[in-house]
Amino acid sequence: MPELPEVETVRRTLYPRVVGRRIERVEVLTRRQIYYPDADTFVAELEGATFTDIGRRGKYLLFSLGPALLVAHLRMSGHLYVTEPGRPRTKHLHVVFHLDDGMELRYDDQRKFGGFHLLGPDRQGIPPGLANLGPEPLSDEFTPEALAAGLAGRRTPVKAALLNQALVAGLGNIYADEALFCARIHPARQAASLAPDEVVRLHGCIRRVLTAAVEKRGTTFSLYRDGEGNEGDMYDELQVFDRTGQPCPICATPIVKVVVAQRGTHFCPRCQPAPEGVALKPRRARPGRRGNSVRVAAEPPERKPGARGLGAPLARS
Ligand SMILES: [Zn+2]
Repeated sequence: MPELPEVETVRRTLYPRVVGRRIERVEVLTRRQIYYPDADTFVAELEGATFTDIGRRGKYLLFSLGPALLVAHLRMSGHLYVTEPGRPRTKHLHVVFHLDDGMELRYDDQRKFGGFHLLGPDRQGIPPGLANLGPEPLSDEFTPEALAAGLAGRRTPVKAALLNQALVAGLGNIYADEALFCARIHPARQAASLAPDEVVRLHGCIRRVLTAAVEKRGTTFSLYRDGEGNEGDMYDELQVFDRTGQPCPICATPIVKVVVAQRGTHFCPRCQPAPEGVALKPRRARPGRRGNSVRVAAEPPERKPGARGLGAPLARS
């Protein structure tokens, strides 16, 4: 699932192609990807409107069209990108915004969990997840004190707390694992059990990991592409996520994968010591899955312009 760095990268790549453009026509090919209001009203309200800004909160993209706000959430596999109208349509294409410069803003979604809410000035119909978002982790609002307050009293594993969007916005499975490794905190530790210095460390690590990932334009783990159809470069920088069985970059102990908070969770059993009384059964590594071949390559694959565009296969080659 795209997390904060991926959604931010989509925002940045769409911005120059979308802001200032008027929507001439909207095609809704899959009505259930429009969550609010109904698809007919959605189309009627948007046709003729002009994009004035693109913002982001957590994993939500926020397209301003004057007073109206078009909210997009990509969920598991949503993909928003601008393309020429001549590009063949995928079978997962659900919504097309025809722009006044002849280009198309397209929404593809293989798993169909993502979609749109269109809000008026009263913001009626706002998705509860957006209304209840916690602080933006790269903003001044997110302080060590704010994180400490969010973790206080929680008996859930700290990993589950970090995935809770009401506590801090935008973290998902990849960057929660990376931040906990950076902070040397076991993911199954009870959230409330963290000492003050651990909370300060975790706060710094969340910001550091997310900042690096935004700079690298996100992680392409399976389906994620930015608004121009390109992959992110963060995958090769990940320290523990999807690195099961590989040596820890700090101490060379093999990285372990377990289930915490119903999610596959990667950590170093030496750098991130287990809390007392917690025994976690490791998951077996599945070699050859997803990006493994890229990691063992002696040199990174050459990137020719256009070679990694929209026509690229979905799996990493
Ligand atoms: Zn280690």
